[in-house]
Amino acid sequence: MLRIKVDTTLCSGHARCAAIAPDVYRLDDNGYCVADGDDVPEGMEALAQRGARACPERAIALIEI
Ligand code: SF4
Repeated sequence: MLRIKVDTTLCSGHARCAAIAPDVYRLDDNGYCVADGDDVPEGMEALAQRGARACPERAIALIEI
């Protein structure tokens, strides 16, 4: 299983992660990712990886747990 780590000091609210994987990356009202600590739902690992790669700030890490 993958766990999402978001470096909130890097996240700039581009919302690209959620544009690609809306069921993986939750955003706050200002478009900042608030999925830090969430576990990637079963079967959505590839989508989560694509969303993480889409982040221009490289704010998202996916950690195997
Ligand atoms: S794409 Fe990156 S910078 Fe934009 S909301 Fe997602 S984590 Fe934050």
